[in-house]
Amino acid sequence: MFFFDPTYFLVIIGLIISMAASSYVNRTFHHYDSYRSQSNQTGSDAARFILSQSGIQDVGVQAISGDLTDNYNGQTKVLSLSESTANSTSVAAIGVAAHECGHAVQDHVNYWPMRLRTALVPAANLGSMLSLPIIIVGVLLSYNTTLIHIGIFLFSLALLFQLVTLPVEFNASRRALKILSDGQVLTPTEVPMVRKVLVAAALTYVAAALSTFLQLLRLVLLFGGNRDND
Ligand SMILES: [Zn+2]
Repeated sequence: MFFFDPTYFLVIIGLIISMAASSYVNRTFHHYDSYRSQSNQTGSDAARFILSQSGIQDVGVQAISGDLTDNYNGQTKVLSLSESTANSTSVAAIGVAAHECGHAVQDHVNYWPMRLRTALVPAANLGSMLSLPIIIVGVLLSYNTTLIHIGIFLFSLALLFQLVTLPVEFNASRRALKILSDGQVLTPTEVPMVRKVLVAAALTYVAAALSTFLQLLRLVLLFGGNRDND
């Protein structure tokens, strides 16, 4: 069906951007993971301290297995830190723990972009699951434009989700840095190190959104027009 598809370069560019971002965050994280914080607090200690400082009493902190699997679950009110973050006293670990606390604070204050992001999860999952199959069926049914456009629309839901994720992630890091800047967990020289780790982590979300945008652009270039003459 497709003999030569130059738009595939868009996918490759997206892949390179994502790989570069992920290698940058890994390098940055591991660099600052070798700096012990002067307070000697672990990620878990820092998380508990920040939560109580923020007036949050109903969120539990637990350690889970895996590398950089840290997350906050608003449904269960559990802040999960990967073992390396939970038990490490490094500046990077405290930064990651503080970022997850940022999400707990967002939940606590009903930060609306976070609510919107949660509401978009089912649509985004449906979109990324069904868009390509529907486009393929549309192409096979002698370019059924209705099906193809539905497929492209579903794919754009996945992009929408990633775009809404950006302010939520940036905001969580901003909250984390603000809390850490008061000097009780990190020293003034350690805060810029955490900022670098959190900026690097945020870049991976930007790269993911950019790569999804390039894939959407490719779908539009390939299938977006009316192919009445084909
Ligand atoms: Zn986050």
